[in-house]
Amino acid sequence: NLSKRLLTVANYVPQDASLADIGSDHAYLPAYLALKEQIRFAVAGEVVRGPYENACHELRKEGLTDIIKARLANGLEAIKVTDKIDTITICGMGGPLICNILEDGRAKLVNHPRLILQPNVGAADVRRWLMQEEYTVVAEEILSEDGHIYEIIVADYIPNQAHMTDLDLEFGVYLRKEKNAAFIAKWSEEVHKMKRVIQQMDKAKVVPLEKKQLMEDNVARIEGVLHGES
Ligand code: SAM
Repeated sequence: NLSKRLLTVANYVPQDASLADIGSDHAYLPAYLALKEQIRFAVAGEVVRGPYENACHELRKEGLTDIIKARLANGLEAIKVTDKIDTITICGMGGPLICNILEDGRAKLVNHPRLILQPNVGAADVRRWLMQEEYTVVAEEILSEDGHIYEIIVADYIPNQAHMTDLDLEFGVYLRKEKNAAFIAKWSEEVHKMKRVIQQMDKAKVVPLEKKQLMEDNVARIEGVLHGES
């Protein structure tokens, strides 16, 4: 049974895709897609031996070793030109790590595959990298599962369309307009944490005013998005 998080990612993989799932661990995502006949071919890339072996085990168990190749490699080095990859998923890592993987692997992006990214933190970094590379965010999801909130960003290479404002980068182009329950929960929690820090600053009395002001500005910005017209 695939998690709601990875099912949501799977929804954005085009029919008959050639997929590279980087940091695949058990290869649950490509295995699910292959069993559904949604993909033609996949690479399950892993940089760590244990997770790589998890993937090999899962693929043998499901009889999928023809369609899905598990490869022990760093980031996009798992992809060969002959794979003709048109979709890349990178899920369950921090935003800065996802950006590093994409940046280091730029040579593998010359055919401009669709990118489906699920940063655990630092989604703004991911959106900034996409904008800089002329990828356009075409869809976003935010969902909560088992007490965690996850963001998913889907981007296609569409030059000259990619301008995002600072609010878009931080809160999401679509997410900040939709403001669904998971979005409100995530950012309300953020405000709650910041207000607690401000209270502690007040008690400590020695905190520089600029620091407190910065925190208060952050709270105001988030509350503006939560309660504003968007
Ligand atoms: N993608 C799966 C998911 O979302 O459920 C597994 C996520 S798991 C938390 C992150 C995986 O990324 C780990 O198995 C780790 O070994 C792998 N990883 C981290 N850095 C990597 C890199 N540079 N290249 C390939 N895999 C990497």
